[in-house]
Amino acid sequence: MAQAAGRVAIVTGGGSGIGAEICRRFAQDGLSVVVADRDAANAESVAASIGAGARARTLDVVDEAAVDALVKETAEAFGRLDVMVTSAGIGIQKSMLETTEAEFRRILDINVTGMFLCGRAAARVMVGQGSGRIINIASVAGMRGVPGRVAYSASKGGVIAMTKVMAVELGEHGITVNAIAPGPIETALTERMHTDATRAAYNAASPLGRYGTLAELAAAAAFLASEEASYVTGQTLAVDGGMGVAGPLFK
Ligand code: NAD
Repeated sequence: MAQAAGRVAIVTGGGSGIGAEICRRFAQDGLSVVVADRDAANAESVAASIGAGARARTLDVVDEAAVDALVKETAEAFGRLDVMVTSAGIGIQKSMLETTEAEFRRILDINVTGMFLCGRAAARVMVGQGSGRIINIASVAGMRGVPGRVAYSASKGGVIAMTKVMAVELGEHGITVNAIAPGPIETALTERMHTDATRAAYNAASPLGRYGTLAELAAAAAFLASEEASYVTGQTLAVDGGMGVAGPLFK
């Protein structure tokens, strides 16, 4: 994938799963990467596995001052910020009837407010330089009704809508904003959330009949960050094995 030399990316949730794989892929593509995660040890370990092209930073995406400080520090250190990937996110598997207010608010806070804060901080730098890419990690759960995901689906639907607004407002500044909607990808998150029954149901509901790999997901992020995606904005790229367009999921 063609990537201009010397580009710089921040990846939130970079300490695990999808975010970590995107960090590795970006580094292979020649970008300098800031691995940002609230789990300091995981962020350090991902950055160490990449080597000289990466630095680790501890970040809670709902801490506005910390988000702004990290973006400022990065832009000052490298003289630019080209890509912001917002992958930090949480989820629970619980019926709508059982989900508590506190659980609902917490998921909306991290998954929507956190992505807003990171996108806004990045955009403020990118507007100044007249270019940039923002890539928000949504979910197929934000596009269709997935049982047990009332808070998670609401948050990811919010991310998809927010992505469109950001794209419309930032286009004139040379900034593209897109979302990726993963289907089930094998990570720590799916390990926690998916029972054997969930796994069987997802595989049955998927046209490709399997979970996606981290490499398949990171390839989509690499595309959206690349020169080749210069005319793509406001879109949600589903990397879901066709689950989003398939028939019924499960009860
Ligand atoms: P993961 O649990 O492996 O990684 C998520 C990372 O986000 C963790 O390192 C965690 O420490 C970090 N994080 C959580 N809250 C944070 C906060 N407040 N501030 C900073 N970091 C925080 O999960 P994953 O599967 O890699 O998921 C990454 C993203 O992809 C999430 O937004 C998730 O909703 C989305 N997603 C995942 C799947 C999947 O199947 N794995 C499917 C659809 C969408």
